[in-house]
Amino acid sequence: MGAPTTPAATGTPPRPIPGVPPAHRALTRPRRRLVAAAAALVALAAVGAGSLLDLRTPAPKPADAPAGEFSAGRAYQDVEVIAARSHVAGSPANEQVRAHLEQQLRGLGLETEVQDAVAPEAGQLSGAAGGATVARVRNVVARLPGTDSTGRVFLVSHYDSVQTGPGGNDDAAGTSTILEVARALTTGPRPRNDIVFVLTDAEEACLCGAAAFAASHPLAADGGVVLNLEARGSTGPVIMFETSRNNAKLVDIFGRAAPHPVGTSFAVEIYRALPNDTDFTAFLDQKFVGLNSAYIDGGAIYHTPLDTPAAMDRGSLQQHGDNALGLAREFGGTDLTDLRSGHDATYFPVPGGLVRYPGWLTLPLALLAVALVAALAWLTRRSGRASTGRLAAGFALTLVPIVAAPVAAQLLWLAITTIRPGYAELLDPYRPIWYRLAVLALATAIVFTWYALTRRRIGPAALAVGGLAWLAVLGVLLAVAVPGGAYLTTLPALAGALGGLVALRTRQTGPWPVVAVTAAAAVGVVILLPTVVLLFPALGMAMGGVAALVAVLLGLVALPVVDLLHPQAGGQRGLLALRARRLAVLPAGAAAVAAVVLAGVGLAVDRFDAAHPAPTHLMYAMDAGTGQARWLSHESDPQPWTDGYVDGVTDVGDDFPGLGDGELRSGPAQSANLPAPKLEVVADATAGGERTLRLRLTPQRTARLATLHVDTSTATVLRADVAGRSVPVEPRAGKWGFGLVFHAPPAEGVEVTLTLRPIAGQVALRAMDASDGLDALPGFRPRPPAVGVVGSHSSEMLAVARTYPI
Ligand SMILES: [Zn+2]
Repeated sequence: MGAPTTPAATGTPPRPIPGVPPAHRALTRPRRRLVAAAAALVALAAVGAGSLLDLRTPAPKPADAPAGEFSAGRAYQDVEVIAARSHVAGSPANEQVRAHLEQQLRGLGLETEVQDAVAPEAGQLSGAAGGATVARVRNVVARLPGTDSTGRVFLVSHYDSVQTGPGGNDDAAGTSTILEVARALTTGPRPRNDIVFVLTDAEEACLCGAAAFAASHPLAADGGVVLNLEARGSTGPVIMFETSRNNAKLVDIFGRAAPHPVGTSFAVEIYRALPNDTDFTAFLDQKFVGLNSAYIDGGAIYHTPLDTPAAMDRGSLQQHGDNALGLAREFGGTDLTDLRSGHDATYFPVPGGLVRYPGWLTLPLALLAVALVAALAWLTRRSGRASTGRLAAGFALTLVPIVAAPVAAQLLWLAITTIRPGYAELLDPYRPIWYRLAVLALATAIVFTWYALTRRRIGPAALAVGGLAWLAVLGVLLAVAVPGGAYLTTLPALAGALGGLVALRTRQTGPWPVVAVTAAAAVGVVILLPTVVLLFPALGMAMGGVAALVAVLLGLVALPVVDLLHPQAGGQRGLLALRARRLAVLPAGAAAVAAVVLAGVGLAVDRFDAAHPAPTHLMYAMDAGTGQARWLSHESDPQPWTDGYVDGVTDVGDDFPGLGDGELRSGPAQSANLPAPKLEVVADATAGGERTLRLRLTPQRTARLATLHVDTSTATVLRADVAGRSVPVEPRAGKWGFGLVFHAPPAEGVEVTLTLRPIAGQVALRAMDASDGLDALPGFRPRPPAVGVVGSHSSEMLAVARTYPI
């Protein structure tokens, strides 16, 4: 909205232009200002507290809870078995986990089988950058047959863990939840629809287990509804953060059937912009619909050795289970033949439930908000509270906090990470609460300072209208670009405009104007406060600016209430006015001090120690042909411990194409007595200018993955086949122009068939494998207690490579 123009209404009293009497510049002028301010703030605080309490996780139910209910106490017993130690795909530990899962599901009387397959990565989105990625996977699949099935409901989680941690949350949470849900479902009457429990393998490596199930398992042939359960942290509410397209019917069932429905259409938009992936992606590639849920707070331990069963918040586990069981029962009884609707829904949590409305309403509502704010601007001007110029200035100046707060939040985090560089490797600090509060205090300080500085010259009414105008305009932009997030600004703008209109239409000295603007601000609190609180763990402190921005938007909706904290506009003269101006700086000053103090408390409280170690990244790579070895780290600014191993920056692409491209820190290492994977020629035939090489790649030690690359200056790769399945031949940058990565290679090796067009006499092939753990390497010094391991797929990796001219 720009400067509104006023139609020359007949009968309009002459307006005092250019100056508007200061006392008339506010939307409300309560007689007892302090009382009104206190009442409004108490009301908003109560609404805010209600919204936040609603995000709390339920109390975990004990192991002796009734059989038809989900019990976190019972599920946790499985968590302890599944996450007793790291169990990466293909490892003996993972075989033990799989045996436990099979035994539990068979024990419930369910038809249980293991799908053993070689599968490519889902959507080519995850996994190593080394080339075409495949894995040998073994999914555990169990079925509860429906009485009169209209389709299938799939409960999905991955049972493998990363190599660097036991996966106490990720994803023992989802897997144990599914076992307990399966148990609860088998105690009652059979559902109408088939329920299929899918515990996937190799999610961490490449989503390959889910890809194998979705693409080739007979039970997946007709698609169905997928409920995927994940954890990316250790605590916090379970958020339904991703859906299939055209989700309105699914979201409606979620709102109705999940006992604790926390989810927002904005999260779906954010998640699409983040580089994360889960098994759900593999199902979306196929003909499935569904919902993806995870708890995400406590992200510091994600993928690290600290992701143990003990780290799990059992309230989060209970919420996962309550929701999964509720949804399984509801979808189990619903006619599944037509779950797609023509549109996506807008939805968000409010105390007591999930608000949802059709996505096609998004743009009309956004335009309505613009119209109502324009009407408020017009009435504000007509009532003599602001001139056109002041309204325009109010709109323009409101951009200051909208820009300044996110920038300041990012600078604050830059300062904190300069003091504590170890934070760079963490998704979120171990104890982020102090930093989150510091960002909120900073945003508050900026809004209050800006308000105190502009209020006298521009006037409270013009600033209030300016804030709402920005919300309304952002609502239109979001409705066009990110429709699921438009409600965040559209609805507060609508409420603010209505509140303002009511305030202007009722007797100024009575209580109603204050009630109206407070009610409008309360709508903003209900919508925006949970967003701020959920954005922090979702994006981490490194993107705290986004939460700061939303906090400013909340401040803008509440400006008429904030105004009550200031002396009445223009009500004083002389000394009194000076005192009033000083008082106006108080809230801003208090918030600024709070920001500094909270950041300082964060630095003092969240120190690295044995229980909260500073994460470091190290790996080892050796060429078995030359015996040359080196330490490698992806830390861009190495921690002191890592610094003992690496110095300069190297590009390892030429020597270790299996590690993907990109520059790493590198330092010399002692050679270890380790064999490279064996590459044998099984068959070699040339016909019509094409050479077909059948090769067997066999790791000579326990390896998590094996890779094979072709020097494309010696031959062009025309086709490639791995374990009987063809893989895409997409050119890679650099010397090794073709590559493939095989996760969880079987001990007997992997057969690879390459069809080549020779360029040189011999083709150069580079074979590599990678295991995990550096402890046995010569020259490795164990980490001191306060130094930990980064939760990355290459942490602690030990790679051995060799070139084979064939
Ligand atoms: Zn994971």
